[in-house]
Parts: sequence; C-alpha cells; structure tokens
Amino acid sequence: MDAAVNLVRENFRFPVDLLREAIEKHHPAITLACSFQAEDIVVLDMMHRLQPYTKVFALDTGRLHDETYDVAEQIRCRYGDIVEWYFPDKDAVQKLLGAKGLFSFRDSVENRVECCFIRKVEPLKRALKGMTAWVTGLRKEQSATRTQVAQIEVDKGNGGILKYNPLIEWTTQEVWAYVREHRLPYNKLYERGFTQIGCSPCTTPVFPGEDLRAGRWRWEQPEHKECGLHKDGSGI
Ligand code: SF4
Repeated sequence: MDAAVNLVRENFRFPVDLLREAIEKHHPAITLACSFQAEDIVVLDMMHRLQPYTKVFALDTGRLHDETYDVAEQIRCRYGDIVEWYFPDKDAVQKLLGAKGLFSFRDSVENRVECCFIRKVEPLKRALKGMTAWVTGLRKEQSATRTQVAQIEVDKGNGGILKYNPLIEWTTQEVWAYVREHRLPYNKLYERGFTQIGCSPCTTPVFPGEDLRAGRWRWEQPEHKECGLHKDGSGI
C-alpha cells in the first residue's frame, strides 16, 4: 500500500473492529441496510460472523433488477431468513403513478427525488424505527457526493442515530478481494459492466474511465446523484 493511501487512512478503523464495537454498543438496536451490492454483502458477512442475529433490512422499491432478487435468494440460502424487506406505501405509489405515470423520474430531478422518497426514503424511516444505529456499505470512491462521508456519522435526517460506514475508505479491489476470499454471492450484473446497482430503470453499465456512480440516473449531473437515503450526516 503506498504512502498516500496510508495518509488517507490515518484515522481509518478496520471494518471488523468497528463493527464489533458497533454491535457491542447497539445490538439488537442496530441494523444493516442491504441493497445486495458487493459492499453490502461484505458487511453482512462480517456482521453475521460477529453476531448471527444481527438485523438486516432491504428496500424493495418495486423496480429492482431480477438479478438483485437472485442474489437476495442466494443470501437467504447461505445465511438463513435474516433479511427483513420493506416496501413502499401502496397508496403513495398508486397516487404517484396515477398523476405522473411510470417514468416521471426521468422528467426532472424533483420528480426523481419524489419517486426515491416514496420508494426508498419513507420505507427507510420505517426500517430504522427503534434503532439507535445503522450500518451501510458506502465508500468514498463511489462518487463525488461521498468524499466527505466519515466512518461514523450522526444521522441528523433520521433522529440523530449513529450511522456506521465501515468500508468508507476501501477500494473496489479490496471489496472484490473479500468477496472472492469468502466465496460470497454477488450480483451477476457486475459481469455486464455495472458498478452500482439500484433500480432497474435508473442504473446502467459504466464505461471504462467513468465515475463508479456514472451508471445511476445517467441523465442527471453528478452532484445530484443521491437518492436521499444518505444525506444529513455529520462525522464524529
Ligand atoms: S432509483 Fe429510480 S425507480 Fe428507484 S426509487 Fe429512485 S427514481 Fe424511483
């Protein structure tokens, strides 16, 4: 590892050490947000080794790729029925589709944020109810909007609970080294050029040299590319 990486990682805690501390402090009021991307599965595996009854939740937006359900099922076979699924409020979805159609998120950032709020942010709030902390697979390398994210944050948007981002300084190579070493299931869309995998109409493969998050909402500017799940955090 070169000196620059060491410098960046001065205050970085090893993910397993941080997760052990987080679980000791918060379990059972701590939960992992899992969208079945490689990072989430790495963290899920680490947490499961530390505490098999650790809570895990997933948001089924109703627009996920089939390949995401495939990997979710592989997780169920390997770890048991540990993932709790949350769904959007059906009345809110019905109202949105009735008023704006199936693809309103392509018309403007406001419409996209509205769809993300209904399908992701509101269900997230339900998933975090009663929790004192949550865990994510966020990494700085993923996008311009994540370079200031800290390994532990106070999530002001969700009642001031703690948010742990154990892999925040990890590189793509480190994530995949862990996946290979532990023979973890992974989403087959990675083999087709996807680097970030969210909802089917809003994620596409990424070309060499592009930002890792370029495949999300291709029609938007990089500074807008967040769905609202990860905002209002401040590092501690
Ligand atoms: S990613 Fe796209 S389909 Fe999914 S919730 Fe956001 S706007 Fe809607």
